Amino acid sequence: MNYSSKLVKVNKDPGHGSHISPVYMTSTFVFDNAEVGAQRFAGEDPGFMYSRLGNPNVRELEEKVAALEFGEGCLAFSSGMAAITGCLLGVLQAGDHVVAHTALYGATHTFLSKTVKKFGIDVTFVPFKTGEELEPHITDKTKVVYFETPSNPTLSLVDMKSVAAIAKQKGILTIVDNTFLSPYLQNPILCGIDIVVHSATKYLSGHGYLIGGLVISSKEIIDPMRKEVQKTMGANLAPMDAWLLFQGIRTLHIRMDRSQENAQILAERLEKHKAIEKIYFPGLASFEDKNIMEKQMKGPGAMISFVLKGGYETGVKLMNSVKLSTLAVSLGDVGTLIQHPASMTHAIIPKEEREKAGLYDGLVRFSVGIEDVEDIWKDLEMALE
Ligand SMILES: *Cc1c(COP(=O)(O)O)cnc(C)c1O
Repeated sequence: MNYSSKLVKVNKDPGHGSHISPVYMTSTFVFDNAEVGAQRFAGEDPGFMYSRLGNPNVRELEEKVAALEFGEGCLAFSSGMAAITGCLLGVLQAGDHVVAHTALYGATHTFLSKTVKKFGIDVTFVPFKTGEELEPHITDKTKVVYFETPSNPTLSLVDMKSVAAIAKQKGILTIVDNTFLSPYLQNPILCGIDIVVHSATKYLSGHGYLIGGLVISSKEIIDPMRKEVQKTMGANLAPMDAWLLFQGIRTLHIRMDRSQENAQILAERLEKHKAIEKIYFPGLASFEDKNIMEKQMKGPGAMISFVLKGGYETGVKLMNSVKLSTLAVSLGDVGTLIQHPASMTHAIIPKEEREKAGLYDGLVRFSVGIEDVEDIWKDLEMALE
């Protein structure tokens, strides 16, 4: 089946023939008799028992996303962070070592630099782009390599095939956060990556109405994680959120196509604008990781970051001047969102450290939506003025 058809497809309703699945808003499921209950708990009958252990809406979503990411299984969680932390705690144990990229989502960075330390897990942060750059940091204790590509907010890339090749050779698991592109534009498993995580809050949902997370991998990794992590930690996605997410995913391709098309036009205009010092967008000829992009991405995505001349004050002023774009964190919504990392998401990081990571005071992060591109441009141009 073509990828677009796979996105849109719904399942046959086992009950009354409704086109869209009903929402199974129930905490528990009835057993016809004691034997059925025993068989379900023994795993001999695939029926449902209790919504923390599985729910029809959550299962429908997990099956769809596993197919979209070319994995054998998927686990849905109540947030992107629940998926990331659950996945890491599922594969790691005391004494293990992790090599993590330096450019990570803030909460993931905190979890890896603080929380896992409490459990005797050691983490080295390195700014690698290739397997060659990663290799010297691998020790005989290294169990996991963790990174995002494109990273937040400078959109720098990591060559997944070269990292996966080195990791496979050494028996190390690779985990990639694929939130910024969605499964429509990039499939890490096809590049040899072992585990993919998503904040489904962003492009997969697309409508800013829920918080959710997903882990996709092989059966060998997902099955024990379902028993050990999803059931015991209990950070499950609720049936209503699973249903909303499933419906959101059905339009992922057209939302992504339009956002990306808009982003390309806006990035080309922004690059020439006199108020802009530097711009990060994978679709521009000037983008530094163009060669990596061509190897693994089906398109540049719809996230643009740009540095304003004039620094911090100019950034704040731009935030207060836009009218169509919404001043908010998060990304991947149908509506354009704008934020200023130096005064918002990355304000707690000291200025010198921020600048080392390319997070200048004048940096603006722009999540391009599906509005008319001329309207977004007019708004931005007016605010830049
Ligand atoms: C938002 C985000 C997360 C965290 O997801 P939540 O759904 O907010 O918990 C993780 N990684 C990336 C890249 C994100 O953008």
